[in-house]
Amino acid sequence: MYTLKSRSIPLDESYDVIVVGGGPAGCTAAASAAREGAKTLLIEATGSLGGMGTSGLVPAWCPFSDKEKIIYRGMAQTVFERAKALVPHVAPDDLDWVPIDPEGLKGVYDALVTEYGVTVLFNTFLCDVDACDGAVQTIVVSNKAGLNAYRASVYVDCTGDGDLAVWAGAKYEFGENGEPMPSTLCFSLSNVDLYAYLYHPKFGTRNGGMHPDNPNSFAHLLPSDPRFPDILDTHLCNNIIGPGTIGFNAGHLFGLDSTDPKAVSEAMMRGRRIARQYRDALAAYFPEAFGNAYLVSTAPVMGIRESRRIVGDYMLTVEDYITKADFEDEICRNSYYLDIHYTLDELRLLADGKIDDGARCARYGVGESHGIPYRALLPAGIQNVLVAGRSISCDKRIQGSVRVMPVCLAMGEAAGMAAAFAASETCDVHAVDVQKLRDTLRKNGAYFH
Ligand SMILES: Cc1cc2nc3c(=O)[nH]c(=O)nc-3n(C[C@H](O)[C@H](O)[C@H](O)COP(=O)(O)OP(=O)(O)OC[C@H]3O[C@@H](n4cnc5c(N)ncnc54)[C@H](O)[C@@H]3O)c2cc1C
Repeated sequence: MYTLKSRSIPLDESYDVIVVGGGPAGCTAAASAAREGAKTLLIEATGSLGGMGTSGLVPAWCPFSDKEKIIYRGMAQTVFERAKALVPHVAPDDLDWVPIDPEGLKGVYDALVTEYGVTVLFNTFLCDVDACDGAVQTIVVSNKAGLNAYRASVYVDCTGDGDLAVWAGAKYEFGENGEPMPSTLCFSLSNVDLYAYLYHPKFGTRNGGMHPDNPNSFAHLLPSDPRFPDILDTHLCNNIIGPGTIGFNAGHLFGLDSTDPKAVSEAMMRGRRIARQYRDALAAYFPEAFGNAYLVSTAPVMGIRESRRIVGDYMLTVEDYITKADFEDEICRNSYYLDIHYTLDELRLLADGKIDDGARCARYGVGESHGIPYRALLPAGIQNVLVAGRSISCDKRIQGSVRVMPVCLAMGEAAGMAAAFAASETCDVHAVDVQKLRDTLRKNGAYFH
């Protein structure tokens, strides 16, 4: 242990609400808080907003519809429609699996937070939290200016890892038996022949594609091909994200704890190795499309599907998913399937027929969804912190569903609004008038039962 020399650092107390983490949840949280009149600061570790959808190079939005109508509305719908306008190869009425132009999406988020007057600090890391009697007093960040302290009335934790809430004393769960879902370092290939990519008789997307759902895809051969030793399974999602450019969400890094910097650093290098192997594998198995493909980028941040899940006033469970639960305090709906990526041990059990994939990864029918209650955003016992995004209070299985971007956008809007209300009233997020919150969300276009 090393004790810092006692010293003073600058303190800024001018903000009502501070949002930490500028992913989908953090962007709508900050914009929503500012729209309600709160002076809002958004702190983001990287140099751009959007989290996994931009810095993580995730190439597509999970469905925005319940197969009948759009259900992630309000600010979520605004972001989606603005982002969709940047991918003109997508049909205007497409709501599901719409590809993402990551550079374009950065601009969409920049414009959203600017529109409402949010102050953004890029390249700034939350690194410490001072909490007392269940309330955060001060946070410390690090950036090019060294260490700086900030003090606000209410904080929204959108770090995806629950950094702020946990450092303030919130309880949390992590994976199953300590192991989270595997991670993926996404990447993009350019100079792809899109004619072959779309129409090739065996692997063209119009004829089954490369995705492992196509039993004829070469994805099934890759894990046993000795030329590509780091490709361990068949995961191979891909979308056209720009002219001649395909975004890949492919391959897995197993057992990675995103809160362990050394492990993440090692995994980044392994992820880049995997991306290079995919480029060569695609060129070998599908030369008509990828023979001249160029690895234009690997994501600058690791794609983390799951880490800490905060223990909140209510823990959303898989039973809530199965029963399509309604809640009196629900702030949005969710209809995405239980998209759980398997650990290596689970993949072995699956191969031996010991896991029922259909039951574990259940899907809704047309028009079906469940509610997300406001209480799932409230870390138990912490007065002035909300959590939005993939680390909300939920069990392992439903996290496979509520972790994706459309619902993170929707819960972010609610969290930011509640933070603004709390900041102007008692500063206790547990005492927010939920009826007023729901009414105001609805007035701004949100959808819930
Ligand atoms: C490989 C992969 C594929 C996926 N595929 C899809 C898909 O196809 N469609 C879909 O809709 N969803 C997909 N998802 C899920 C989705 O992208 C994420 O779960 C979602 O972005 C979570 O949103 P968030 O706002 O909670 O967190 P994130 O998007 O993770 O954003 C968190 C932000 O907080 C910042 N941050 C973290 N810690 C700190 C700190 N201490 N200080 C300051 N800033 C900090 C990060 O830099 C980041 O910008 C995928 C996820 C992964 C990993």
